[in-house]
Amino acid sequence: MWATDHGRYMTNSMASRWLIAVLPASLYKMNADGTNLTVMSATREIVNSFNELAHHGVDVRDVASLGGGLAVANLKFMVMGFRGDWKAYVQVFGFCRAPNTDEVCWLCEGSKGVHNMATAITDVSENAYWRRTYLNSSPWTSIPPYATLHGFRLEMVVPDLLHMWNLGMARDLAGSVLKIICREQHVFNGPNIEARLRQATDSLKTFARSNGHCLRIKRITRAKLHWETRKYPEFMASGHDSYVALAWLDECLKPYQQRYGDLCTLLFTSNWCFRLFYANTGWFLSEGERQTVRVLGRIFLQVYARCALDAVRQRDLLFRWRPKSHMIDHVFECRRAINPARYSTWLDEDWLKKLSKNLQMTASKTAQVGVLQRWLMALPEAIDKAGRD
Ligand SMILES: [Zn+2]
Repeated sequence: MWATDHGRYMTNSMASRWLIAVLPASLYKMNADGTNLTVMSATREIVNSFNELAHHGVDVRDVASLGGGLAVANLKFMVMGFRGDWKAYVQVFGFCRAPNTDEVCWLCEGSKGVHNMATAITDVSENAYWRRTYLNSSPWTSIPPYATLHGFRLEMVVPDLLHMWNLGMARDLAGSVLKIICREQHVFNGPNIEARLRQATDSLKTFARSNGHCLRIKRITRAKLHWETRKYPEFMASGHDSYVALAWLDECLKPYQQRYGDLCTLLFTSNWCFRLFYANTGWFLSEGERQTVRVLGRIFLQVYARCALDAVRQRDLLFRWRPKSHMIDHVFECRRAINPARYSTWLDEDWLKKLSKNLQMTASKTAQVGVLQRWLMALPEAIDKAGRD
């Protein structure tokens, strides 16, 4: 699927996302090294089309009433960036550095430190080794078709805020903060954990209502927090719910700054950065905004890493550090002026959800053509509707 960066209906998923092909996973042919040959062949064809559009473009002719034979303009098209979750990136680019290997990152040579602690991604200092290896080497063993797109640069593969933050590190942060405050009685004073979780639920719902947010989560329970002795806590909720929960916790803990100083710092700094990304509707961040994110983001990651280390020393499972946390470090570095929120997959996920409804109504054997046909038939109405909204 592709989307234009300058469409008329960018906030309407069905009128701004365009289907290229449907590839059922049952058709995948995998290489011995794990390369998805089917996806690589499909993307090679897609690249040929986009390169044709970049080199030769499309002639626009004058209107038919005037003859329609005169070319009045030539439009050229460029691919400006990629949007997708990490799993999809690994498939379509054939990354050999991925979350399940020691070297994890497609942008740098940071690792989990299995072979060499000097390259560890848990080093969040300013002079961490991995920062000096940004875009130094290729994260694949054979060049994927997408890398042969006209004007391709590796930094165009942007970490997705929805999966990296809202469904990733934000859930770890909200889970740890909730576990800490609900096993004590300072913020919520119910007689046991269940009672305090009920108080937390009521407080969250009141906050959401008074700030005009709709929540999908019904109750905060032990299960929803993965509250078990041998598991890291995680706030199991939608991406939007985790955004609201962090804003609520920030508000909730303000009167407890003396007691929960680190938690307040984590919530304040991260909320500030992501509000800035999401509230900025332009394509670019100003130099001032980038500097703010760099400073607050650095404070956030250093405090988070310290809390994670303290938890490990106390054999407490809190503040999980995972490869996604490292990608958030790259997001906070703000090396590019482009706003990473423009490359988040919120609307793409919405589009996929609607498309998968179509898929369910289509026979699996003919799905490749059936879904394309149904999508094309519904397109005029989707564009009409977007124009009326
Ligand atoms: Zn990296």
